[in-house]
Amino acid sequence: MAVHRLAVSAAEATVVLVHALAACFREARKSMNTAVVIVGAGVAGLTLGNFLQRNGIGCIMLEKHSREYVEQRQRAGTIDSRGVRMFREWGLEAVVEGDPIPQAEGGFFIDGAELPVEFEDDDNSDSRFCPQQVLVRNLTDVFLRGGGDLRFEAVDVSLEGVDGERPVVRYRDAAGSTTVIGCDFVAGCDGDRGVSRATIPAGALTRYAHEYGYAWLSVLAEVPANPSGMAIHSRGLAGVIPRGATASRLYLQIPLDDTVAQWPDERIWRELDARFGTPVATGRIIDKQLVPLRSVVYSPMSYGRLYLLGDAAHIVPPMSAKGIHLALYDAEVFARAVIQRIQKDDASLLDSYSETCLRHIWNYQAFAAWITEVMHNAGDASYAGEFRKQIARAELQRQWTSPAANRLFGELTAGVN
Ligand SMILES: Cc1cc2nc3c(=O)[nH]c(=O)nc-3n(C[C@H](O)[C@H](O)[C@H](O)COP(=O)(O)OP(=O)(O)OC[C@H]3O[C@@H](n4cnc5c(N)ncnc54)[C@H](O)[C@@H]3O)c2cc1C
Repeated sequence: MAVHRLAVSAAEATVVLVHALAACFREARKSMNTAVVIVGAGVAGLTLGNFLQRNGIGCIMLEKHSREYVEQRQRAGTIDSRGVRMFREWGLEAVVEGDPIPQAEGGFFIDGAELPVEFEDDDNSDSRFCPQQVLVRNLTDVFLRGGGDLRFEAVDVSLEGVDGERPVVRYRDAAGSTTVIGCDFVAGCDGDRGVSRATIPAGALTRYAHEYGYAWLSVLAEVPANPSGMAIHSRGLAGVIPRGATASRLYLQIPLDDTVAQWPDERIWRELDARFGTPVATGRIIDKQLVPLRSVVYSPMSYGRLYLLGDAAHIVPPMSAKGIHLALYDAEVFARAVIQRIQKDDASLLDSYSETCLRHIWNYQAFAAWITEVMHNAGDASYAGEFRKQIARAELQRQWTSPAANRLFGELTAGVN
C-alpha cells in the first residue's frame, strides 16, 4: 500500500512538473519584445503604425475590437487639407481615397430660411470627403500588407512599468492566452475611455475641461444628405452632413438630460424639418447616440515612457470637426520623435512631444470652442441668453462680410493655421 502511494505521488509529481514546464514554455513563447506597443487601432494608432513601419521601427498594435467592427464604425467624414498633405508627404495619399461621394454643397439655414451665402472656392484646399471607417480600413490594409503586426480582439490590456526603462504590456487574445510584450515606448491611442490614460497615477496629469451645457443627438441614416448643411434655429442647432453616397449624419442640439428613447425616428425627422424650414429627405435610421458637448485637454500628454495620442489626450466638440485633425497631428509628431530617438539616438523631439502637441491643440481648442458657441448661441437663447445670441449673430455676419475673417476661418478649417 505504501509502495503504491509512493508510486502515485511520483506520477503526480511528474505530471505537475510536465505541466509547469509546459506553462514555462508557453509563457516563453508568448513573451516578446518590440520598440513600440501601440494600444488602439483607430485613426491615431494606425497612422502611427504605418509611419513607424515605413521607417523600419518595430511595433505591435493591440486593438480590443474585431477587424470587422473597427472597419465599419462610422464617425467623421472629412480629412482636412493638413491631413491629406501629411499622408501625401509620407507616401500614403491613397489611404484618403474614400468612397465616391457626390459633391454636396453645404448650405446655411437661419430661422428656417436658406441664406444666400456664396462661399469662395478655395483652390488651395486639399480636404477630402473620406468617411472615418474608410480611412481606418485603408490604413489597416496598408499596414498589414507591409507585414505589420496588428492583433485584433486583444482584451484586458494592461501596462506595467511605464515609468521605468522597459515597460511591459500584457493582453489576452481571443483564445484566452496571455501575451507579455516588453517595449521601449507605449503609444496610448485608445481613445477617451481606454486603458492607457487610466494607467497614469492620479495627480500626474492636469485635466482642463469645459462643458457646453447641451448635447447632440447624433444619428446615422441611410439617405443622401438633402438638404445638406447646418441650420441655426431658436429650437436649437441642426445638421445634415453627407457620409457617403447613400448615408448621412443628422445632428440635433438637445438638452443634456434627454435620452435616446425620447427621440423616436418620427420625432427626429419632424424636428429636422422644423429647424431647416424645409423637408429633409428621410431614410432608415441605423444608429442614434447622445454626445454631450465638451472640450477636454490632459497635460502633459506623457508619463514616463507612455505617450498619449488623439482622443486619449483631448476631446473637441464635434461642431469643429477637428477630432481627426488632432489625432493625425499627434501621430505625426510622435512618429518623428520616435524615429529620431531610435535612428539617431536623439531624444529631443520625444522630450518636447507634449509641449509641441499642446501648443497646436490649444489653438484648435480655441477654434472649436469659438465655432461651437457661435453656432449654438446664435439659435436657442435659452442656454446663453439673448445678449450672447446677438453677439453670435454679429460674429456670423462678420464671417460673411469680412475677407480677413473668412481667410482665417479657411485656414483653421483646412487645419493649416
Ligand atoms: C459620433 C461621432 C462623430 C464624430 N464626427 C467627427 C467629425 O465629423 N470630424 C472629426 O474630425 N471627428 C469626429 N469625431 C471624433 C473622431 O472620431 C475622433 O476624434 C477620432 O476617432 C480620434 O481618433 P483616435 O485614434 O484618438 O481614437 P479612436 O479612433 O476612437 O481609436 C481608438 C481605438 O482604441 C481602441 N481601444 C479602446 N480601448 C482599448 C483597449 N483597452 N485596448 C485596446 N484597444 C482599445 C478602440 O476600439 C479604437 O479602435 C466624431 C466622433 C463621434 C463619436
